[in-house]
Amino acid sequence: MNGSEKIREELCKYAQRTVAGKLVVGPGGNISARHEGKMYLSPSGFALDEVLPEQWVEVDIATGAIQDIGLRPSSEVLMHLYAYRANPGIGAIVHTHPPYCIAFTLVGRELPVMFPDQAALVGRTAYVDYVLPTTDKLADAVAAKVNEASTMLLGNHGLVATGRNLREAYYRTEVVEESAKIYLIASAVRPPKILTGDEVEEIASLESEAYRIQLLQKMK
Ligand SMILES: [Zn+2]
Repeated sequence: MNGSEKIREELCKYAQRTVAGKLVVGPGGNISARHEGKMYLSPSGFALDEVLPEQWVEVDIATGAIQDIGLRPSSEVLMHLYAYRANPGIGAIVHTHPPYCIAFTLVGRELPVMFPDQAALVGRTAYVDYVLPTTDKLADAVAAKVNEASTMLLGNHGLVATGRNLREAYYRTEVVEESAKIYLIASAVRPPKILTGDEVEEIASLESEAYRIQLLQKMK
């Protein structure tokens, strides 16, 4: 299996998990991965778990040229394209419509950091005010924030999660949805306690400490 075939297989795997995890319903949401200057994006009009490996649409990131396989790419093609152009470190993008995230955008703005896992894996979640979907305005608004946060809540719409690879972008999607869910449950009782900036910092340094120990062990 060559590199792009592998990416296509992996896209199918995470697309199926996205639907199974109820992070999208019907033909909603779109996901993509970057490979050698191209992005592979879900086609328009399909439920994510219906897409076959050969149906992911290849788009050249520099030129925007779309490979003709008789399928249109997702209507959010510009959002994916601009995000990859704005941040070369992004290897995959998972855009979903998770119910608790959407509920959260209706009543809140930025999702606070509340849990160690959330702090370590996701960090801050940015917020993008409602913009008409599928437009270059939404693509511009998302691209403007991809260097400051790995995840973004889209007002009255959904979630965008980026990652170095599909696994990371998908896990971030799950963690943010779970965090929004817990926040909303706690909010029914009283305003939830969130982690302070210092507490989040402390978790970040714990991560680098673990990495340092791992590295030292490898060097032995
Ligand atoms: Zn959407």
